[in-house]
Amino acid sequence: MARLERLAAEVVEEVQPVYRDIERTALENHRRVLDAFHAAGVREYHFLGSTGYGYGDAGREALEKAWALIFGAEEALVRVQLVSGTHALATCFFGLLAPGDELLCVQGTPYDTLCPVIGLQNPSPRSLTGMGVYYRQLEPLSDGGIDLAALRAALSERTRVVFLQRSCGYRMRRALRIEEIEAVAGLVHRASPRAVVLVDNCYGEFVETREPCAAGADLVCGSLIKNPGGGLAPTGGYIAGRREYVQAAAERLTAPGLGAAVGPTLGLTRLLLQGLYLAPHFVSEALKGAVFAARFFERLGFTVMPAYDAPRGDIVQAVRLGSPERVMAFCRAIQQSSPVDAAVRPEPGPLPGYADGIVMAAGTFIQGASLELTADAPLREPYAVYLQGGLSKEYVYLGVLTAARELIKLENRLAKLEN
Ligand SMILES: *Cc1c(COP(=O)(O)O)cnc(C)c1O
Repeated sequence: MARLERLAAEVVEEVQPVYRDIERTALENHRRVLDAFHAAGVREYHFLGSTGYGYGDAGREALEKAWALIFGAEEALVRVQLVSGTHALATCFFGLLAPGDELLCVQGTPYDTLCPVIGLQNPSPRSLTGMGVYYRQLEPLSDGGIDLAALRAALSERTRVVFLQRSCGYRMRRALRIEEIEAVAGLVHRASPRAVVLVDNCYGEFVETREPCAAGADLVCGSLIKNPGGGLAPTGGYIAGRREYVQAAAERLTAPGLGAAVGPTLGLTRLLLQGLYLAPHFVSEALKGAVFAARFFERLGFTVMPAYDAPRGDIVQAVRLGSPERVMAFCRAIQQSSPVDAAVRPEPGPLPGYADGIVMAAGTFIQGASLELTADAPLREPYAVYLQGGLSKEYVYLGVLTAARELIKLENRLAKLEN
């Protein structure tokens, strides 16, 4: 197997210029985070937290102030009561959309777990379409960009939410860049003042030096067990943006009249603040791991998305493996390379919110946390795996080499069977 190690060493040299760009981005993001901590006046007593209703929780207020500043937002809701990214997104949709309003998705079918929320197939009466919200979808351009002419034509009086997804999701497509989000937001605000530009920011935080609200988006949300939790947040989600929309979402999360005023932090504030503080660094490590994986698997002959030296909008690296056997071998190798549950053998299975069988390798300290090294793949064409996270680039390197070895073993077994 010395051949693989030699190739890996060559790849490490090739990716150095890309690593330097990632480090420049990380430094700017660190600076923005530190400035926000100072402006929010983070203090040691903020870590104590609250119980019960959580009235007057100064630590929660400091966290949310820092978050709003970092994300270019007027206000932020950062709560452990938001269970996941899907919950944060659903909270925004139900807070903003009333019967008769239209939700316009401009990049094709949204992320798997949002389909039941919207009610795309067999809508439940509690889904958006089930309660009378109109849904309309535009397809992305062949290069993954947004069809601005089609978007302009589709906007109407009843368009209330224009929905964008920054990350690729389980698709072999590239992620959206902040400048593209800026173009969409500008167009929508000029043409349709009532429309709210909502961005699913999952996996995108700290990948560039600006976040969507700083580029004109009205509202963003995401998960704390991805990028902005910095590997330390044990659970949670966030919603940030224009005050009136954040407040509308807060009244959905709790109740009309209560809004953001309640929500105990249960002693978790230190982990959320410390995770946010470290997030730009861990995102840069994950990006370096993804860049290495992209070049390494490309040199082994696989199609990858994005290419190692292409601009990135998220931390996800897709590798097209072409067969379910290879997908299983890859995911099992990532599981074996994990610090926790390394002996577990991932099997494809149903997961709440996902229609296709999905295989997930996640030997993580926090269940399902995908800023830690994870690989997932829906078992469907084109049999691609989506690799993300890794709290250090070295752990990604080790996992990627193990995966390559397992793929080679599989090919050797298949070749023997044929003879
Ligand atoms: C992870 C993710 C979500 C939300 O998923 P949760 O598992 O509910 O946090 C939504 N959109 C995209 C693009 C994602 O990657």
